[in-house]
Amino acid sequence: MSARLSSKARNNLQRQLLGWFREHRRDLPWRRSRDPYRIWVAEVMLQQTRIAAVIPYYDRFLDRFPRVEDLARARKTEVLKFWSGLGYYSRARNLHRAAKQVVAQQGGKFPRDLEAALNLPGIGSYMAAAVLSIAYDVPLAVLDGNVARVLARLGAIHGDLRAPQRWKELQEMAQRLLATESPSDWNQALMELGEVICTPQTPHCNACPVRKACRAYSLGITGAIPQPRKKRGPVVVKIAAAILRDPRGHTMLVRGPGAHDEVLFSRMWQFPAIEVKRNAKSELAAYLRGKLKIVCGGIEVLPEAHHRVTYRNITLLPYLVRVPAFPKLDGAKILRLAEVGRLPVSSATCKIVKAALTIP
Ligand code: SF4
Repeated sequence: MSARLSSKARNNLQRQLLGWFREHRRDLPWRRSRDPYRIWVAEVMLQQTRIAAVIPYYDRFLDRFPRVEDLARARKTEVLKFWSGLGYYSRARNLHRAAKQVVAQQGGKFPRDLEAALNLPGIGSYMAAAVLSIAYDVPLAVLDGNVARVLARLGAIHGDLRAPQRWKELQEMAQRLLATESPSDWNQALMELGEVICTPQTPHCNACPVRKACRAYSLGITGAIPQPRKKRGPVVVKIAAAILRDPRGHTMLVRGPGAHDEVLFSRMWQFPAIEVKRNAKSELAAYLRGKLKIVCGGIEVLPEAHHRVTYRNITLLPYLVRVPAFPKLDGAKILRLAEVGRLPVSSATCKIVKAALTIP
C-alpha cells in the first residue's frame, strides 16, 4: 500500500494520525516521562499483558525501583516479589540482568544505539525500536500485533500476518510510513490507533482519523483483515500441590523441584507439586516420600482452584499434608502460611495459599 502512496498522501496520513494522537492520547503512567528506563520497564511489562493489568504493577515497581541503579542493586528475590502476579517471570529476570549491564557498561543510561540495545538480555528488535524511538526519537518503526493489524487494513493485506515473509513486508511498510520527524509520537499513535480504534473484531472506522487512506475500509473488507489465526486447542493440566504443615503451624516452600517449573511456577517459590497422571493423592504421596523423603502423617483434600497460562487450563489440587518435621533441603523455606506473600510467588501459588487458608 505504501509503495502506491505519493509523498503527499503519506504526509497527509502522518498529519492526520499525529494530529489525532496529540489530541486524544490516553494519559498512561509511562507517557508522563521520556525517561528511557521508565519506558523500558513499561514495554517489558506490556509484553503479553494488558494495559489495565500492568498499571498497578508498574506504579508499585517504579515506587520501589525508581532508577535503573535501584533495580541493578536490588536482590533478584525482591525484583521477583514486585513482579509477583504479573506472570512470565523470565521478563523480570532479564530486566534485572539488563539493568545491571546498563549500569556497569552504559553509565546507567539505556543505550541510544540499536546494536548496543539488542545486546541487552531480553531486548529483541520490537523492544529496542520501541524504547529507542519513544524515549530518544530514534527513527525506528515498531511492529507489534496492533500495528500489524492497522497496517494490514490500511493496505488491504490478506493472509496470516505472522507468516515470516508477510511480517517482513509489514516491517518494511512500517519503516516507510514512519514520520521521521516525530518517531516517538508516530509509533505511539499507530499503537494507540490499534488499541482503541482499529480493534481486532469491530474496528470503529467512523471515528478513525485515517479512514480516507484505508483500503480495507474503501473495499468494505475490514472484517476480513487480518485473517483469523488458527488457535491452538486448550491443554488440560492437573497439578497436585502439598501444603506441608508441622505441629507449629509452619509450612515449606521450595524452588525448583516440583513439576512444571517453567510453565507454571517459573522458578518462583512454590509448594512441592507434581503434574498428575492418574491419581493425584497417591502420586503426590509417592513424590513426597521418594523425592523429598517426607513421612506423611495424613493427607487432606483442600478446595481446588483453577488457573490459566496461555493455552493451558490448569486445575490446582491442593492437599494439606501433616508432617512431624520438615526435611533438611537446600533451597527450602520454612515459614507461616500467612507469610508466603512476602516471597516472590506466582499467582497460581497465591491461589493455593487461598485454599490453604481455609484450614482451621
Ligand atoms: S478505517 Fe477502519 S479498518 Fe481502516 S485503519 Fe481506520 S479503523 Fe482500521
